[in-house]
Amino acid sequence: MKWYTKNQREIEEQLQTNAGHGLSEKQAEERLRQHGENEIAEQVSVSRIYLFVQQFKDFMVLVLLGATLISGLLGEYIDAIAIMAIVLLNGLLGYFQEQKAEKSMAKLKELSAPVVTVLQDGVWVNKTSRELVPGDIVKVKTGDRISADLRLLDVNALEIEESVLTGESIPAVKNEQPIPKENVELGDQHNMAFSGTLVTRGSGTGVVVATGMSTAMGQIASMLSSTERIPTPLERKLEELGKILIVGAILLTVAVALLGIYQGHPIYEMFLAGVSLAVAAIPEGLPAIVTVALSLGVQRMIKRKAVVRKLSAVETLGSASVVCSDKTGTLTQNQMTVQQIYVPKQHYFVTGQGYHPKGKFYLNRKKIDPLSTSALSQILKNTLLCSHAEILKTNGRFQIDGDPTEGALVVAAEKAGLSRQNLQGLNVIHEIPFDSARKRMTVVVKDEKGKRFVISKGAPDVLLKRTSWIQEGSERRPFTPKKEKHIHHMMERMTNEALRTIAVCVKELDPSENEKDFQLENHLTFAGLFGLMDPPREEAAEAIETCRQAGVKTVMITGDHVNTAQAIARQLKLLPPHGKVLGGYQLSQMTDEELEAIIPEVYVFARVSPEHKLRIVKAFQNRGHVVAMTGDGVNDAPAIKASDIGISMGKGGTDVTKEASSLILMDDHFATIKSAIEEGRNIYENIRKFIRYLLASNVGEILVMLFAMMLAMPLPLVPVQILWVNLVTDGLPALALGLDQPEKDVMKRPPRSQKESVFARGLGFKIVSRGFLIGLVTLIAFIFTYQKSPDHLAYAQTVAFVTLVMAQLIHVFDCRSDYSVFSRNPLGNLSLVGAVISSILLLLVVVYFEPLQPIFHTVELPLTEWIYILALSAIPTFIWMPSGKEKNHSIHV
Ligand code: ATP
Repeated sequence: MKWYTKNQREIEEQLQTNAGHGLSEKQAEERLRQHGENEIAEQVSVSRIYLFVQQFKDFMVLVLLGATLISGLLGEYIDAIAIMAIVLLNGLLGYFQEQKAEKSMAKLKELSAPVVTVLQDGVWVNKTSRELVPGDIVKVKTGDRISADLRLLDVNALEIEESVLTGESIPAVKNEQPIPKENVELGDQHNMAFSGTLVTRGSGTGVVVATGMSTAMGQIASMLSSTERIPTPLERKLEELGKILIVGAILLTVAVALLGIYQGHPIYEMFLAGVSLAVAAIPEGLPAIVTVALSLGVQRMIKRKAVVRKLSAVETLGSASVVCSDKTGTLTQNQMTVQQIYVPKQHYFVTGQGYHPKGKFYLNRKKIDPLSTSALSQILKNTLLCSHAEILKTNGRFQIDGDPTEGALVVAAEKAGLSRQNLQGLNVIHEIPFDSARKRMTVVVKDEKGKRFVISKGAPDVLLKRTSWIQEGSERRPFTPKKEKHIHHMMERMTNEALRTIAVCVKELDPSENEKDFQLENHLTFAGLFGLMDPPREEAAEAIETCRQAGVKTVMITGDHVNTAQAIARQLKLLPPHGKVLGGYQLSQMTDEELEAIIPEVYVFARVSPEHKLRIVKAFQNRGHVVAMTGDGVNDAPAIKASDIGISMGKGGTDVTKEASSLILMDDHFATIKSAIEEGRNIYENIRKFIRYLLASNVGEILVMLFAMMLAMPLPLVPVQILWVNLVTDGLPALALGLDQPEKDVMKRPPRSQKESVFARGLGFKIVSRGFLIGLVTLIAFIFTYQKSPDHLAYAQTVAFVTLVMAQLIHVFDCRSDYSVFSRNPLGNLSLVGAVISSILLLLVVVYFEPLQPIFHTVELPLTEWIYILALSAIPTFIWMPSGKEKNHSIHV
């Protein structure tokens, strides 16, 4: 269908819809059933069997399978089958875990799915993009990613970047006029907006003409990249560690086997010893547990309102040393209220809170009727004309649909008894929308007599540069330097009280002047100033303090005036006494080197444009910081991408910034960033905890085997026992360590260096030393029992096996802390207690359940044996050892 050739009436008829009313709820439901969800099917998902087979392509597992096969061929059938069964079980677990992780990633995607404003039964409602159907009337605005193919019905300076479809990176200017031609290329269809393209400027409405796979994008869907999960840096490091361990294990195995053969042992026996060593050296369960710990961590973050888009962010968060945060809405409540209005020579005060449209006007402490004061009522009318926001009342609460700054202005007008109904006969015929770089917005209004007026509102310092006149009562007078100084003084007064200021200027257009002329915003007449309060968020102050103690510096970046920013920063205790505030103008004058030199002292960047953000990120990074940066507008995307952790706003953010970010704040609050950092640190620490636990086990196993070989004794453990320990009895407690609560001081430590090895801060020492002790007590248990009854090898092996498992299960409680086993309540992590009990039960099953005894080479142990086993097993954990933990660095932020 060539929608671009049709006019509005034809489209409405064809799609059975109405531009002023939209579809009814019933119609929308029916169409959704008929057309299906508005989704572009991703590449055929990988088959389940493939996913299952994938589990075994791991090099560690391959080595194990190869060795098992050979030992099977050599006649050890039962062992080979048992090992195969355990490996298979592990593969199955891995498969289910991967599926679960995939599902939770899909859920995350859903959480960050775009929301669209749709006209339904005559009211604008929010829907997810998946629910769109042909015939829906939708709004689009700067920063949106278009969700379906639209025929535009009404546009306002709308520009759309369509490079995904056309390859053209310069945004296309849109209009609503039908194109009376057939066979027009996508790039020339100026009255269409296509699914997947980006609104870079302006706004508009359109009717959905195609959804899902019927859209232009759907037809080229095969070009879309599939969503492949990229391993995080830590996962990659562990993969490398795994490879090193394998090479080490193979070398060790070969050396031991050759030595044994040289000493005259049979080749077959030596091969078995080699396999046992290889199994002992490799932490088979580790990769799967890391994946699960990361995905569980991501779930916990969602509970704290932080949605992770890139898994690597979880790790990077723990290293963040600077958080650059927007002010409005993130550090402040985004509940703007006009408190002061200045029209030349008159300074008014307005009462009321939030968006509740009730309040009084005062002049010189006396209550006045705003409508009886013509300058005041005029400026309020002008701001109404130059604003889009609407006041909504939902569940008894007043809210704003649109920009909060404009919302505050509309509420102030309503307090004076003015609404859009009072503006009949006045029509906006042209608009230059607000953007953070220009810091102003302008409309051209035509009255009933055909006279045209310009109304501009924006940052005072920007508009005053374009002002030549000042309106004083009914007179228009030249804007002399003295008058300008006075207005600046008024502005300073307001900004010092932490108010955001907006100036309003007007101009009457000459009949000869073109309303689309770019000179429109020159030679304006100053009409007045508004002072708006946006109180800081209480929880933000607390979060900033917590971050400070954690060695993370919070930096405010705002488009607002320097004084306003400074006053709010002081209220939030973000700005220390020695801290500096840098204005966008000063920043523009500086070279990158100068900025880098001064940046450690800067806590507030004010009156900045979005492109400054990129320089700020780079400067901090060049000084060795790991930077988290928030953003909401389209122009913030480059800085968000360049930062180490790009953060976007779930409520107020645009689709473009969301896509560039690695973390989305569902509630837009600064405190959520703090929670995410805390979780990030905790997840990393938990991963370290179970790496320590699992590797200590491996060290113990290798040592006990090696020592026994050196002492020319039989092997204390058989491969299937070692595998049972590595995958089963160790697996559950390791997972539970991944769920551990953080240590009390997790937000009192400095950020972790990104270069830091997983084994830093004494972890390597702990693994080797405790592992050594675990190996030693297992060996002692084995030697004593073996010497008592050398004919009964299985008995001694069972004692060694049980000692090893019990030593591990006691040691797991030590792994919870960087300090000592006594520093934490052993019952503090109930899942760990549950996991340890389950592991003990599993151990008892393989020792006491007769049918399993031949498979696991175990025999029944009398109760008395346990006393002596438990005493030995406790030694590795309770022997005092230096904590190996560095003293905390003093933190300077
Ligand atoms: P932050 O970065 O802290 O979120 P911000 O993004 O709200 O601040 P901008 O939106 O860039 O900052 O606003 C900069 C200045 O532009 C404001 O101080 C105000 O004077 C002016 N301004 C903000 N919104 C509007 C608007 N809708 N119309 C006209 N001027 C505006």
